[in-house]
Amino acid sequence: MAAFDSQSERPRTPAALPEELGFGRFFTDRMFVQRYTVQRGWHDGAIVPYGPLAVDPAAQLFHCGQGIFEGMKALRRADGGVNLFRAGDHAVRFNRSAERMAMPPVDFQQHLRTIRELVSLQREWIPARPGASLYVRPVMFAAEQSLEVRASKSYVHYIILSPINAYFGSSFRPVSVFVSEEHFRAVRGGTGEAKTIANYAMSLYATELARANGYDQVLWLDAVERRYVEEAGAMSVAFVYGGKHIRTPALSGSILPSVTRDSILKLAPDLGFPVSEERIDIGELVRDVESGAVSEVFCIGTAAVIAPIGRIGFHGRSYEVNGARTALGARRLYEGLTDIQYGRVSDPYGWALPLDVPARVSAA
Ligand SMILES: *Cc1c(COP(=O)(O)O)cnc(C)c1O
Repeated sequence: MAAFDSQSERPRTPAALPEELGFGRFFTDRMFVQRYTVQRGWHDGAIVPYGPLAVDPAAQLFHCGQGIFEGMKALRRADGGVNLFRAGDHAVRFNRSAERMAMPPVDFQQHLRTIRELVSLQREWIPARPGASLYVRPVMFAAEQSLEVRASKSYVHYIILSPINAYFGSSFRPVSVFVSEEHFRAVRGGTGEAKTIANYAMSLYATELARANGYDQVLWLDAVERRYVEEAGAMSVAFVYGGKHIRTPALSGSILPSVTRDSILKLAPDLGFPVSEERIDIGELVRDVESGAVSEVFCIGTAAVIAPIGRIGFHGRSYEVNGARTALGARRLYEGLTDIQYGRVSDPYGWALPLDVPARVSAA
């Protein structure tokens, strides 16, 4: 087999992958697909060669937007083994997202078994470079041929794998965020808590405006009072006060319950950083950034793990975050969490699931 696909010029073997993987640009050569109908439930699940899916142009995905996804990581341990990080939590969220979007749940155990099987089969594609990993992207979309505005009666669930580098490159280059006061990502009672493609569609226009203004991402406010900080780009966000105390927006009904955020909430206190979940007013926040009370700002999510924010644009002004260049807290948390992910330290939280350890036979 040729190393590169003749049509797409995409690498077809792990050895043909370039040094610079970026995020979500390359995919392995196998994927999982199954279909759902009301009559048969989920059926015809199979691991098949990676490639285009036949989708009806009238499929409700395109007209009603029923689409959900997940994002989790498989990581190569120093001892050559593979860890899946918090796979169960991502699978639980996948089914919550399905419920919110009026889509059928997948079988939780089977979904997890499939991810294990697919990652096992494609393990040579897991990059070994520091910070690199295999990003696992389960997706579900509405497939029924119908223009009616109602929940679809058929769906496709698939899982693809993408070898990625550390999201923002290996450097801790701080990103900049622009506070959107006119456009909002999500509203309480809406779909902000679901990992649905609709939320990303909502976010793109404001993100392009932020880019045109010289910022990397949007800092999202709540859509009701338009003053409480919710997320940064497609990630959670946190603020370090006095190099120590971490404040992060409390889940509000319009914030995506990030698994990485949850990991930080549990890990940070153990590393000496007390954490609180609060309502964070944007006016107070920028004053605290300006006075230097806020020593670091960072965003949190599976792909990047932690990325420092160096500058906040609000009300026509730019606020520099003092400690962004050193990002000592972010670094410490990044190291603490990735040490567990890559199996460099023992995992007291039970988050890193070794791929190859056979299920332990209980003594009872
Ligand atoms: C996926 C996502 C996150 C991060 O969630 P993790 O579980 O930590 O990857 C945060 N916000 C939004 C909007 C997301 O889609």
